[in-house]
Amino acid sequence: MKTIDSFLTEIRSLLNPNQISTEASELQFYAQDWSKALTPNASAVLFPESTAEVSAILKSAHFHAVAIIPSGGRTGLSGGAVATQGEVVLSLIRLNAIGPIHEGALTLQVGAGAITEAVHQYCAPLGLTWPVDFASKGSSTIGGNIATNAGGVRVIRYGNTRNWVLGQTVVTMNGEVHHFNQELEKNNTGYDFRQLMVGSEGTLGIITEATLKLCPLPRSTLVFFFSLESFDSLLSLFRFARKKFSNLSAFECLDHASLQSVTEHFHKPMPLQTPGKVYALMELENTNFEEAEQVLGEIFEQGLVLDGIMAQNEKEKKDLWHYREGVAESILSGHSVHQEDVSVPVALLNQFYGEIEQRYAEAFPQFKVFFFGHIGDGNLHIFIQKPEAMEFTQFKKDTQASDHELFKILEHFKGSVSAEHGIGLLKKHAIHFSRSPQELLLMKAVKLSFDPKGLLNPGKILD
Ligand SMILES: Cc1cc2nc3c(=O)[nH]c(=O)nc-3n(C[C@H](O)[C@H](O)[C@H](O)COP(=O)(O)OP(=O)(O)OC[C@H]3O[C@@H](n4cnc5c(N)ncnc54)[C@H](O)[C@@H]3O)c2cc1C
Repeated sequence: MKTIDSFLTEIRSLLNPNQISTEASELQFYAQDWSKALTPNASAVLFPESTAEVSAILKSAHFHAVAIIPSGGRTGLSGGAVATQGEVVLSLIRLNAIGPIHEGALTLQVGAGAITEAVHQYCAPLGLTWPVDFASKGSSTIGGNIATNAGGVRVIRYGNTRNWVLGQTVVTMNGEVHHFNQELEKNNTGYDFRQLMVGSEGTLGIITEATLKLCPLPRSTLVFFFSLESFDSLLSLFRFARKKFSNLSAFECLDHASLQSVTEHFHKPMPLQTPGKVYALMELENTNFEEAEQVLGEIFEQGLVLDGIMAQNEKEKKDLWHYREGVAESILSGHSVHQEDVSVPVALLNQFYGEIEQRYAEAFPQFKVFFFGHIGDGNLHIFIQKPEAMEFTQFKKDTQASDHELFKILEHFKGSVSAEHGIGLLKKHAIHFSRSPQELLLMKAVKLSFDPKGLLNPGKILD
């Protein structure tokens, strides 16, 4: 009998039939993530409903030498949750319990499969939130957020997921169950495995539960949308806003091509009368309206922007946010898209942008390039749509060439080839531009100590 068959025979004695699927359409669905850039190929999908079941599955997989792919909401953009070699997908979506909240400690217990937005909704009536927020929150899971150290639109104020996880229950490939850091705010007793799990992309262990840190929901927010004549002006506005407002909670950007993509795809009007080369979405928390109006006056007086508006009510705020949050979906819809997610030190953004914009225009005029992202964190998303007339193989070849140039420039600016989407399978070839050979060796040693047989999410981050 093949190893996978003997494994599945054992699993059938451990799980209910509705927790195991080998149906072709489900295999296709669960073996894929949002990047849609790889051909899915899984042998089975399992849906455990407790940490004990995850432990039993991993013990059996370890014994039978079957490779396991941890899977959450599959909104990842780097192929981290994709099965391509007939592995078994372990979907955590049924471990979706939320609660209880401890109001004194400001902590929340959640299952790894809890949906990010459902966590927000659970906390909101108590005036609390888990401040990790981005466009895919309606589908992404807490386990996936932790495994990718998700960033998002409020990193400028709250930081990444890493800052908001107090403890985790983790099952390692041999089936052992660990409670990393329990729920301790302070714990200086050696290596912090909880933090090691954050951003490990399912290669070291499977997160089944977490204790999240919460914070108060802002009492109020103000949302602005500006058009600007250049990237230079965008950064001047950013410097100005950062100095003036202590409660800047988002500073996001999109170029004109990205805005056009949103307005066309969602049939929305242009948000401002005067178009710009680039646009900024700015959000302030707990800021006095009069104070904001006065600063807005200064912004116009100093000629920092071409045009701008401030949302007058909750509906308008949502509407303005949609111009930014709808960008990825609008560009991806119905197109083959090559995606990059890079970062450089904020102080070097201007020079970096100038160089890459010029390089794409000169060397790759055949591309339609979109720039948008979390500019306040030095993080740009660069999406390239395949021209309709171009063969896919040619597009792949050309984007490989453009990536090489982009990564060389990034290396020069000491930037990152993956700011927040992780490495997965798709960015593996580029990791050496951002991490030294010595660091990669240390990573391999860590991987070996957690998973000596290399069965957990094999081939992700490292070969
Ligand atoms: C429209 C759109 C906008 C996005 N915007 C942002 C953004 O602003 N910021 C950002 O950071 N990301 C963004 N993303 C990417 C993505 O949503 C995040 O990476 C998210 O954290 C992935 O969560 P998930 O549950 O979907 O994980 P999945 O895609 O299912 O998995 C991601 C990785 O985590 C591993 N994993 C999943 N669950 C577990 C677990 N329980 N234990 C161990 N490993 C696990 C998987 O093996 C894989 O390596 C966006 C994606 C889309 C589609």
